[in-house]
This record gives sequence, structure tokens and C-alpha cells, in this order.
Amino acid sequence: MNRLLIVGTVAFDSIETPDTRVDKVLGGAATHISISASLFNINSAVISIVGGDFPTKYFEIFKRRNIDISSLKIEKNGKTFYWIGKYAKNMNQRDTLKTEVNVLENFDPVVPENFTSPNVLVLGNLDPRVQLKVMSQIIPPPKITILDTMNFWMDNAMENLKKIISKVDLICINDDEVKQLTGLNSLAEGARKILNMGPNYVIVKKGEYGSMLVDKLNTFECPAFPVKKVKDPTGAGDSFAGGLAGYLTTVNSSSFDDIKKAIMYGTSTASFSVEGFGINGIEKINYNDIINRVDFINKLL
Ligand code: AMP
Repeated sequence: MNRLLIVGTVAFDSIETPDTRVDKVLGGAATHISISASLFNINSAVISIVGGDFPTKYFEIFKRRNIDISSLKIEKNGKTFYWIGKYAKNMNQRDTLKTEVNVLENFDPVVPENFTSPNVLVLGNLDPRVQLKVMSQIIPPPKITILDTMNFWMDNAMENLKKIISKVDLICINDDEVKQLTGLNSLAEGARKILNMGPNYVIVKKGEYGSMLVDKLNTFECPAFPVKKVKDPTGAGDSFAGGLAGYLTTVNSSSFDDIKKAIMYGTSTASFSVEGFGINGIEKINYNDIINRVDFINKLL
């Protein structure tokens, strides 16, 4: 079976939407990515760190899905990464009220022995210093390395972020982050500027307006799945990356055509993610649910 290696935060999230508030639920980029990817027929592993405050029952969520967590470190005397986010009335805009990096600050990641040559590597959202350390342990290069990041790291670690961007094959980034990273207001121009920073492909995520894949020669636009009721957009970008990476791992490819298909899978997994709080939306679905929405999206193209 093909292998997918994921690094990213495993976190506590407190989330406030116009209707509801949840406190300290399981979240984090690696959590959303790995749970979405586990719906595909692959072997996967997560590299991350949590504190002594992390409940044991949460480890079972990963184990039940056969996600290898031998490199999910527990720092007994430390506190788990904690994020608080609040959504505006239209749910398209989100403010980060707090980011506590905690145990992530001094994290020294170690790649599990049987994952040093994965088919696909996802450098999910976390400190670019850690993303660089993981990438340096991977030999030979995977079929495709996918990077996700966010404004927090542009504000706090731009130098290392530019280094990692120069080394990856594909970057997933949302519309506001394209503007922040490039200083350009046009997404098409911004995406082209990012291609010049190193990656062969850029995927711009545009929330309910779908996503755009760009390489030096081609552009592909994918609509979002029309979800009836968005409960919580948290983790949509990560679930998108999980579906995308899950599909690319099964086909072991990095061609433009396969990334186009992978985007439909990512769009499908992201649509389930926003239908529940935290991981609830993605937790209860199976592979057939993903396929049904991929078929629907395909008909919209
Ligand atoms: P998304 O909605 O796809 O942007 O992902 C939100 C998830 O990312 C939440 O579960 C958070 O725990 C996690 N997160 C928030 N801020 C950061 C950050 N600066 N670095 C890594 N993960 C983060």
C-alpha cells in the first residue's frame, strides 16, 4: 500500500460561530488532514507533538483509522498547541483570537522509520522550521510534497517560510494569504509570483467559491460543493489537503491531470468537514460518501 506522511499541529481548538461556541475540542492541521486522508486505501503517519494535558481518548481516534502515531510526541510537562477562532456572521471571515504555540516551540520532529521514503509528503500548517526539519529527513524525494501554511507564519517566520516554499512541489494557500505573501491583489498574478518562488503548482483556496490550480502553462478552476448548512469552516483547508493527498497517494502521481482529479476529492472531503464542528463532519463519513460528491462536482465542470 502506498504511504502518506503528514506533519502539522495536533491541537485544542475553541471555536465561536454566530450560533454556537465549543471549547477545547480536538483540532489541528495534522488532525484534520490525517482523518480525511484515512478514508483512502493508504498507509499514513502523523508527526506532531502534544502536551501532558492531551486526553488519551483522542489517541484512539487516530488509532481506529490506522494512522501511525508513533511519531506523535507527548511532552508530559508541556501544554498542547491551542487556537481560538471566531467567525463573522457570513462565516467567510475568521479572526484568530489566540494562538498558543506551547509544546510546538521547541519541537524536534522525527520521521518514523518506515516512512522515510513516503509516496506523498504533506507539510501541514505549523512552524516552517519544523517543516524544513521533516523534509531534510526524507530520502529519496516523494512523488509530490505538498505545503500548507497560514498568515500566522507569514507574520512570525517569513524567512523560513520562503525557504520551505522554494523546496516543495505544490503549495495550497487561501486567497487572503496569496495577497499577504505576494503583495498582489490579483489571485492569478499572485499565484504566478508564487510559482516563481519555487513550487511547480499552486492551489488557491477560495472558500465557498472553490479553488484554482495553476502551473506555468495551465489553469483549472474547481467549484465548491454546495453545502446546505455550514456549521463550522474550521479545518476545511486541512480536510481539502487531506482528500487531495489521499487521492494522490493512491495514484502515486504528480501530473497536472491527476492533481485536477485530486482537487475534486479535496473539495468533497472539505465539504463534509464544514458540516460539523471540529472533526465531527468528517468523522462519520466513508469512501462512498466522498465518491458521491466527487461525481456531483465532476458534473458541474
Ligand atoms: P483551517 O480552518 O483549515 O485553516 O485550519 C484550522 C486548524 O488549524 C485548526 O484546527 C487549528 O488548530 C489549526 N491552526 C490554527 N492556527 C495554526 C497555526 N498558526 N499553525 C498551525 N495550525 C494552526
